[in-house]
Amino acid sequence: MQRLKDYFSKNKVTLMVIPNAEKSIKQWKFNLAIAFIVLITLTLVNIGLLINTVTAKAESAHLNVANDALSQDLVRTQDKITSLENINQSKSDEIDHLKASLISSTDFLEERLEEMDQAQTYITQLVDLFNAETNSSLVAPVSRSFSRTAPVAVDASTGDSLSYSEDALISSVESLVSSDEISNILSEQSEAYTELVSKLESQISYLECRPDFFPTSGTITSTFGYRKDPFTGQTALHNGIDISSTSGTNIYAAGTGVITFAGWSGSFGNVIVIDHGYGYETAYAHCKTLDREVGETVQKGDQIATMGSTGRATGTHLHFEIRYNGSAINPLNIVTQK
Ligand SMILES: [Zn+2]
Repeated sequence: MQRLKDYFSKNKVTLMVIPNAEKSIKQWKFNLAIAFIVLITLTLVNIGLLINTVTAKAESAHLNVANDALSQDLVRTQDKITSLENINQSKSDEIDHLKASLISSTDFLEERLEEMDQAQTYITQLVDLFNAETNSSLVAPVSRSFSRTAPVAVDASTGDSLSYSEDALISSVESLVSSDEISNILSEQSEAYTELVSKLESQISYLECRPDFFPTSGTITSTFGYRKDPFTGQTALHNGIDISSTSGTNIYAAGTGVITFAGWSGSFGNVIVIDHGYGYETAYAHCKTLDREVGETVQKGDQIATMGSTGRATGTHLHFEIRYNGSAINPLNIVTQK
């Protein structure tokens, strides 16, 4: 140890610096121990730096791997976002489509209601016309529903359909569809119209049966009421009207009905009787021929017999009677058509 100490203290190291040829050389002398310590220190620092570099490289490689993983994660996340955006877009398209179809459904329903409304108006006019023509008093059905749904139709007519707020749209559709509103309206209307049609049918049937068709052609030679009987000379009720023409003139049914008698009946001679229903009956007396049989249905204006002078008759004529609920009434109060 002492020898090593001596060695270091005796030996010196000279550091020379030669700037260039013109300047003088600079030189410093160091104790070998100091030089050795400096050299070792530098070596140690170098080793430290080397270790540091190696460690940093390893760390960098590790970070690179982590970075790659994060990049892949990022790409996957971006893909997810893109796919979510696509889904969102398709949902949004779907909503637009649904909106459009809701609007078209609403429009469709409103159009149908509008048509029903127009049909209602048309039927009311027809019924009024029918009533005026026939002295009837039929009433066209009015649906309570039209007034309730009308505001929806007004809303729909304003502006661009797609700018419709969803709430307004849905509530308008709901109000139309809720609690089977539409089917209720339709079934109400259908019932009301069925009732009207059946009333019209019975009214038309009544008008067909009512014996108001003038039953033959000729001249009225005797009217309804009290008169002096041409055979007895006594005042008696003449139950019908007499229409005179030539023998064989056609006699027609005054209204639709069923033949209830066709044959000989005392002073009436050949007589044919029709039951028209609704309390009406007609009789056609003194006929030459009877052209229908009992039980046959005849329409108003059908030929049923021909004019003659059978039975107790002063000349060729048709004795025409109308009975209402069993009593003879003045045919001229009923007969309007000739
Ligand atoms: Zn008569």
